[in-house]
Amino acid sequence: MRYISTRGAAPELDFDDVLLAGLAQDGGLYLPESWPRFSAEEIRTLQDLSYAEIATRVVEPFMAGSVALPEIGTLLREAYAGFDHSAVAPLKQLDKRTWLMELFHGPTLAFKDFALQAVGRLFDKVLTARGRCITIVGATSGDTGSAAIEACRDRDRIEIFILHPKGRVSEVQRRQMTTVTSGNVHNIAIEGTFDDCQDLVKAMFNDMSFREEVQLSAVNSINWARILVQIAYYFHAATALGAPDRKVAFAVPTGNFGNVYAGYGARQMGLPIERLIVGSNRNDILTRFFDSGAMTLAPVHPTLSPSMDIQVSSNFERLLFDLCGRDGEAVTKTLARLRQDGSFEVAPAQLEQARALFAAARLDDEETLAEVTRLQHETGELIDPHSAIGIAAARAKAGDLDAPVVALATAHPAKFPDAVEQATGRRTALPARLADLYEREERMSVLPNDYTAVTAHIRETKGVRGAA
Ligand SMILES: *Cc1c(COP(=O)(O)O)cnc(C)c1O
Repeated sequence: MRYISTRGAAPELDFDDVLLAGLAQDGGLYLPESWPRFSAEEIRTLQDLSYAEIATRVVEPFMAGSVALPEIGTLLREAYAGFDHSAVAPLKQLDKRTWLMELFHGPTLAFKDFALQAVGRLFDKVLTARGRCITIVGATSGDTGSAAIEACRDRDRIEIFILHPKGRVSEVQRRQMTTVTSGNVHNIAIEGTFDDCQDLVKAMFNDMSFREEVQLSAVNSINWARILVQIAYYFHAATALGAPDRKVAFAVPTGNFGNVYAGYGARQMGLPIERLIVGSNRNDILTRFFDSGAMTLAPVHPTLSPSMDIQVSSNFERLLFDLCGRDGEAVTKTLARLRQDGSFEVAPAQLEQARALFAAARLDDEETLAEVTRLQHETGELIDPHSAIGIAAARAKAGDLDAPVVALATAHPAKFPDAVEQATGRRTALPARLADLYEREERMSVLPNDYTAVTAHIRETKGVRGAA
């Protein structure tokens, strides 16, 4: 399987190189040259398989030529063995036609574990085969940092440094990162904002000599392997509800457009998905796009669903590539317009093409809390604010369909206890394995928002362990 860049000016790579590269050299995102398709009969055979087996069938055709391919079944079984629920991604019925797919039973209680638990292991395999070691550096405002740390802890060929803004992430989120005591895990609290953290990481990637010296790498959500692994749960849910003989719709609380784009991938592979419904919070750049065809930047507002507080959805570029007839030059021009003018608009035919599959709805904080309250009254379920936005979007945008709608629950309610309590008067307990999270010892370095100080710290810390 060969991969091409959405901007059309980077070398074609195979799976392993795409995994390690993350971003393409021309600034674009990698995509398979063509999508493998499953026949109805092939989809039907998935109905009887376990979650890890379905995931194996889904990812195999994309990994042709990878050193990890012969062991991918074992690798995925191990990736999901530590999840708290034997179904891995259990489905729960909310009303006659709406189902909840719980994607929060992994080690850090958010859906990002699905991708990162697999990607950490894939990195290990490929690095071992190549005799290489890397340093992963990332900035986090919440869920990504802990999921990446859990995925990379104790891996011999990876040192991982996660920067978070000091005092600006929730206590659960901070403790999920800082209480991991593995020698290759390093938390840095930056005296600054999330944007400062992100700017420091970007500067490291632009610093060619530092990049080379520490073999810098990333596991952010534009990495193709993360998207690929997420395609599996769309097949898992749809086949459980009767696909390929019954159509299904999905509703997805969306930030960077990675999760819902995996649903688009499932449809490209032949899964009968009738509609993909995007849920946004007040940061509604995507909802405005699907309503109007114009993508216009706006300032980011903090909300009760912080993992969706974004200005630009980076993975949207992958959909744009198809809307532009897979013309990399057109994508490059369109995105340059967004950078220069803060806005671009697609042609009516392109908007029509997007709206044939996608719909979108937006909820502010008040509406989000009202949805959490409603769900508790009507179903007894405590739902986190992100997931509530997906469920409300499903109700708003699937009324005319005669297909079941699966709403993706992206975080455990115990991860956002204050919002859930505000809406329902109840707090959810953390799962037993995290029950002592508030007593565990924390380990982190506090550093100023200063490039020289942070890179010096990474060199020194990495050197100590690297020499051992
Ligand atoms: C990351 C995240 C999202 C957004 O997912 P995208 O793939 O960025 O669209 C939604 N909900 C939760 C809880 C998250 O952690």
